[in-house]
Order: sequence, then C-alpha cells, then structure tokens
Amino acid sequence: MHKTIIIGTGPAGLTAAIYLARANLNPLVIEGPEPGGQLTTTTEVENFPGFPEGIMGPELMDNMRKQAERFGAEFRSGWVNSVDMSQRPFKLSVEGMGELTAETLIISTGASAKYLGIPGEKDNVGRGVSTCATCDGFFFRGKKIIVVGGGDSAMEEANFLTRFASEVVLVHRREELRASKIMQDRARNNPKISWSLNRTPLEVESGPLGVTGMKVRNNETGEVETIATDGLFVAIGHTPNTKFLGGQLETDETGYLIVKPGSTETNVPGVFACGDVQDNKYRQAISAAGTGCMAALDCERFLENAESH
Ligand SMILES: Cc1cc2nc3c(=O)[nH]c(=O)nc-3n(C[C@H](O)[C@H](O)[C@H](O)COP(=O)(O)OP(=O)(O)OC[C@H]3O[C@@H](n4cnc5c(N)ncnc54)[C@H](O)[C@@H]3O)c2cc1C
Repeated sequence: MHKTIIIGTGPAGLTAAIYLARANLNPLVIEGPEPGGQLTTTTEVENFPGFPEGIMGPELMDNMRKQAERFGAEFRSGWVNSVDMSQRPFKLSVEGMGELTAETLIISTGASAKYLGIPGEKDNVGRGVSTCATCDGFFFRGKKIIVVGGGDSAMEEANFLTRFASEVVLVHRREELRASKIMQDRARNNPKISWSLNRTPLEVESGPLGVTGMKVRNNETGEVETIATDGLFVAIGHTPNTKFLGGQLETDETGYLIVKPGSTETNVPGVFACGDVQDNKYRQAISAAGTGCMAALDCERFLENAESH
C-alpha cells in the first residue's frame, strides 16, 4: 500500500511530488496519457518565475520531474481508469498496473481545452493556434488575431488580446452570444475588435511560418470565405479531466472539482485536488504549482493526524 498516490504529472502533480518526496513520504506518481502535462505541448514559457530568458515547456517539465526523482518520488506510466473512494485505503484501477491502494490521493489531472476539431487546427498548436491568451498573447504584438467563441471567456480573451494585437476578429457560429451583457458591451465598445458572427469555422490555413487564415462558412448565405490572420485563439471552454472519478467528488456546474476554500481538501477526507482540475479561473502553470505545494502540505498534515489517532 502507498501512503500517497499522485495522479497526473503537470506542474501541480510534480510540485506535490517534490514536496512529498522531500518529506520522506515516497509518493507514487502516475503519469497518465500526457506525461509532463499541457506544457509539453507548447514551446517557450515566458511567465514561469525563475527563468529570465524563458524556458521551453518540455524542458521545464523535465526539470520538475528530475527534481522530484532526486528526492525519491517514484514514477509509473499508465493512467487511472477508476478509483474506489468508499473507504480508506482507496483502491485505484490503473491501466497496465492492475489495482493499487493508497491512504491518500492527490488529484492533479488538469483540464483539457476544447478544440474546434477542424482540419489544420491541432497541427498548428504553437504555430499560431492557442487556447490561452494569458500564455501566448505576448507573442502576437502588432499582429492580427481571430478569437473563436461566444461566451464570457471568449470576450475576455478578445479584450485582453487587444493589448497586443493590431486587430482582433471575434468569430462565432451564431448571431447571438452566450456571454453576459457586461462582457459583450466591453468587447463591443473596444475599437480594436471586429465581429464575424454567424460563421462556422471550417479549416485553419497555414504556411511555413504558421497560421495565415481561417476558412469559415457564412451560415446565412452559405458562402465560404477566408479570414486572413496571424493567430487563432480557440476560446470555447475546457473539460476538467475527472471522468475516472465516477462522480465521487463534488464538482461545480462546469465539472471542476470543488475544494474547501483556502485549501485543497475535497469532500472525501484524504483526497486532495490541485491544479487546473479544480481551477476554472486562473489555469496557469505557476498557480497549478502553487496549489500542488498546498496539496502536499495538506496531505502531510492529514497523514500525521491519521497516525496520531
Ligand atoms: C499550448 C499551451 C500553452 C500554455 N502556455 C502556458 C504558459 O506559457 N504559461 C503558463 O503559466 N501556463 C501555460 N499553459 C497552461 C498550463 O499548461 C496549465 O495551467 C498547467 O499545465 C496546469 O497544470 P496541471 O498540473 O493542473 O495539469 P496538466 O498540465 O494539464 O497535467 C495533467 C496531468 O494529468 C494526467 N492525467 C490526466 N488524466 C489522467 C488519468 N486518468 N490518470 C492519470 N493521469 C492523468 C496527464 O497525463 C497530465 O500529466 C499553457 C497551456 C497550453 C495547452
């Protein structure tokens, strides 16, 4: 039986692993389908403190993993299919490893950005296609950008991107937007934002230097046109990776795990959540790492209390 199993190896899980390993708790870390997490899919990370010249995403994650290994964290590849949390120790069914048991669990499985699913989109992630304005806006100074989406986050991303872009075109499938009135008004009053509503995205076009345009269909006339652009920000939401939990942990209406305010405790004692899987607001590497640290400390305290009873 393991004292702690950490599920996921993004910045949250790896930070928790560093702390727990240094506390001599020998955590077992399960890597899941994307070892190193979302940052392994990007190039330069310029906003993670400690790297004045920036650092490549995969290198940053490799460093975190090595740091956790140095203190004795054990890594296994495989992903968790299901967890039985009805009693402690918790039972995990892990693909390729069978059943594992653990006194405590740290869930750090992240949230996956939703994509449009159109040709040329996934191939150009990091070459002009992004799902994170906070992360990548800076790379688009003086450039033209398309933002796709009709909710609050699309409005927010579009407004934010006008700090860098020469022009932002908001593309949405329908005429009406889902965004709140205040967010819509803010976007509509922004002179750098233009609108291409009632358009269905069909294909991302690119050249040797990255994205060059997006083909869309005008839903009213059926006409197909290409909107020229240097970048495409897809802002149609995220899916927290919680399916394997089978509804045993409380979530909000959008599927994010709920933790007790100011901590990483979930509704099941001994199960802690950190990183994007419980954060529908910030979703940054450093905030994920910060809550990873909190989860490790919460977990240590829980184990100490359990031992002293
Ligand atoms: C293209 C891109 C660029 C970005 N750029 C930046 C940036 O410049 N700066 C910044 O601060 N943030 C950036 N972000 C956001 C940042 O990557 C995330 O906020 C951060 O990675 C979240 O960390 P996490 O540890 O919560 O989860 P993730 O990084 O999402 O990692 C989740 C982990 O859980 C594992 N997992 C999932 N399901 C299971 C399962 N069933 N069993 C076992 N393991 C599982 C996965 O394999 C993965 O290891 C970017 C994101 C993307 C997509």
